[in-house]
Amino acid sequence: MNSTVVTFPEGRVTGRSEIVGTVPVGERHGLVVSETPFHPLDHTWPDQPADRGTIGGLPVVDCVTGAWSEGRLHLGEDIPARRGAEGWQWLVVHVTDTPLPVGESVDLAVDPAHRAALSAGHTACHLAALALNAALAGRWRKEPALDGLGHPDFDQTAITSSRISPGASLDVYRLGKSLRKKGFTADGLDAGLAEVAAAVDDRLKAWTAADAPVRLEVPGPELTARRTWHCALPEGEASIPCGGTHVSRTSELGTVTVELALEETTLTMRTTVTR
Ligand SMILES: [Zn+2]
Repeated sequence: MNSTVVTFPEGRVTGRSEIVGTVPVGERHGLVVSETPFHPLDHTWPDQPADRGTIGGLPVVDCVTGAWSEGRLHLGEDIPARRGAEGWQWLVVHVTDTPLPVGESVDLAVDPAHRAALSAGHTACHLAALALNAALAGRWRKEPALDGLGHPDFDQTAITSSRISPGASLDVYRLGKSLRKKGFTADGLDAGLAEVAAAVDDRLKAWTAADAPVRLEVPGPELTARRTWHCALPEGEASIPCGGTHVSRTSELGTVTVELALEETTLTMRTTVTR
């Protein structure tokens, strides 16, 4: 089996392809095609959930990443290699309750409303991260790596997990010793949290009003190609490495707001899209 060609980076939600492999997934069946519009959960950075939809008319109950090497297939969390590692074939595995035969041509259809809601949640997640970087910029004593807009990249430096859901995201940041060593001060952040959230919301409001174009840079057609998200914001072009799906303009998000919460050394940011 060769690495699956994926069309979700172009925004596709339908396709037709041939089943090139089937694998057991517990009691269920994992179907692999040569080309698919389905976005699977990534095993290395599982931020955007799997698409829903149908393959050959059968419900896709889950969609996971598979890695094939030396005649063995590993799935999801059991993959022992980093995303895109050499020597592996990277597969989109569509999980169904009923098997389909290898060689059969099938229609693939992603639930478009679910995809659109995940794309909105994902674009909002990246914009909120950039707005948070800007709002926390004054808290750095040393200059760490900068984001595309020239602010200290708090998001990439402190993030521990990111979870996208329909029209929303939840990002978790660790404000521990290592972040302090890198020059970030969390002193008084608790008392100033509402002010930070308001500054993030203000910036998000300006960015959605700016109707900025969003695009993905896609260096290759395979699942694990190193794609990059770009957004041409009024302050400049921002870019973030990203394997997910997105809206094509910031105005499609309607209103984006955040809620911040600080518990000991964990900062969480819940981002919500209201369309
Ligand atoms: Zn992303």
